[in-house]
Amino acid sequence: MFCPKCGATNPSLTSKCSSCGSPLPIPLQTTANTSGMGNLSQAPLEIKGWNWGAFFLSWIWGVGNSVWIALLCLIPFVNWVMVFVLGAKGSEWAWAAKKWDSVEHFKRIQRNWALAGLIVFLVGLAFWIVYFVFAFWAVTTTEAML
Ligand SMILES: [Zn+2]
Repeated sequence: MFCPKCGATNPSLTSKCSSCGSPLPIPLQTTANTSGMGNLSQAPLEIKGWNWGAFFLSWIWGVGNSVWIALLCLIPFVNWVMVFVLGAKGSEWAWAAKKWDSVEHFKRIQRNWALAGLIVFLVGLAFWIVYFVFAFWAVTTTEAML
């Protein structure tokens, strides 16, 4: 591909000119965006993989990404299985459910979800640690008083 700025020839799959560094027009194949097409959507390889946001935030993530099947997480016991299904399939489902500008756009939003999920997880974890430390402290001091 020729760089529109300096005219240098570049390998077809690069996004930046190897000579001057200016961004190159994206070839057609990579712009084929099938997001938001439901069953017709084909998730690009780049977005497949574990979705931490879906795993940590389950139905909240589902509502935010129009993946309504995630509402199964509201059912006790089903939710234990469902969070793992969401972690594994979440990215594909979210790609099919909503129209995304690009793979980068999708990745950026899902990264934010993962970050939010991690924060929620860590806050929850900290809460439980404080709870157990306090419970342990309460038990030992009560025993000491007896
Ligand atoms: Zn160039």
